[in-house]
Amino acid sequence: MRCTSCGRGHEHRDLIDTSSKETLPRCDDCGALLRPDVVWFGEPLGEAIERAFGCASQAEICLVVGTSAVVQPAASVAMVTRRAGGAIIEVNPEETPLSPMCEVSLRDTAVTAVPLLLAPATGAQL
Ligand SMILES: [Zn+2]
Repeated sequence: MRCTSCGRGHEHRDLIDTSSKETLPRCDDCGALLRPDVVWFGEPLGEAIERAFGCASQAEICLVVGTSAVVQPAASVAMVTRRAGGAIIEVNPEETPLSPMCEVSLRDTAVTAVPLLLAPATGAQL
């Protein structure tokens, strides 16, 4: 996560109680609210997109989760992995323009499929 005021990064892996503003996580330095350290829709991509393209060019697998795969330039990140010889795994209940290029397309929601992908092998089936 990162601070909405000073921008400092924070490790925060616990569940967040969203029942009130007082229970939301805050910055240790300045006390402002923390937010996920991601780029939300409509925010400037800044250097994040360059880092994403750099990582994608070296990745063996690009995991694409819950996106329509139509908003550029982010939609092109997975194709960088593919052109470099890597594989694309897509998690989306619907087919997307990226689906024909995926080695695996999991037709499920992110909430259901991602925990199964990240869990140690337990015999659970997608
Ligand atoms: Zn802060």
